[in-house]
Amino acid sequence: MTPGDAGSGDRRALELAMRLGDVRARIAAAAAGRAAPDLIVVTKYFPASDLRILARLGVADVGENRDQEAAGKAAELEDLALRWHFIGQMQTNKAKSVVRYAHSVHSVDRAPLVDALGKAMAAEQARRAAQGLPDRPDLDCFLQFTLDDGVSGVPSTERDAPRTRSRGGALPADAEDLARAVGAAAGLRLAGVMGVAPLGGDPADAFGRLLRISATVRAVDPSASAVSAGMSGDLEAAVAAGATHLRIGSDVLGPRPGVG
Ligand SMILES: *Cc1c(COP(=O)(O)O)cnc(C)c1O
Repeated sequence: MTPGDAGSGDRRALELAMRLGDVRARIAAAAAGRAAPDLIVVTKYFPASDLRILARLGVADVGENRDQEAAGKAAELEDLALRWHFIGQMQTNKAKSVVRYAHSVHSVDRAPLVDALGKAMAAEQARRAAQGLPDRPDLDCFLQFTLDDGVSGVPSTERDAPRTRSRGGALPADAEDLARAVGAAAGLRLAGVMGVAPLGGDPADAFGRLLRISATVRAVDPSASAVSAGMSGDLEAAVAAGATHLRIGSDVLGPRPGVG
């Protein structure tokens, strides 16, 4: 599809409408009469024009994993009432930028990041006050956990890699401390937990582990009941396990440009 091609925007709109319809039908079928989880459409690598189409199709929640790309799109699409979810591994020096546009961060996985987000929220509220703008709502924080089960399910070629740091996530043993840290930070709201099923493992097992961690977090804060789990390839397993938020990219938008 060439951008200058007359009608290419219409074709893309039709394609996105069909793909989104298929994903919504899969979610409804998996929920089987129970309340369907919230759909966050992961738009990383795709242009702002696609987000405009998605907004017209009723998408309210979008996910991005790189601050520079997300900040640019959020500024360009300020006229749309989109909620931005930051889902990627995050360096502490990005906190100040992320809190300017993000409704939530799904990748809170260590105490220094909780600290940085709390400080960034205080600075952001002060910036808004100085400009006569209203406060922004508290930042929803999902604690991300690694769902790797030791070495089982991990291909032998990856067994020497440091424990799943590649996909991010705290160890389950850190759940209580992290939950208390978010709860104690002004400007942050503990929403719940997030996980990515390990490659090559059984997603049902992985999401079962995440739901057990969720129980630990809810023991600290009963309102922190959100469970962000499920991507294009494993959304059915995530819904069955009890996900409240799904993060779906490629099945809505197609294969990511320049990514395998
Ligand atoms: C890219 C990404 C997704 C979406 O993955 P798809 O397989 O394209 O649906 C979900 N969660 C995270 C953390 C991601 O980085």
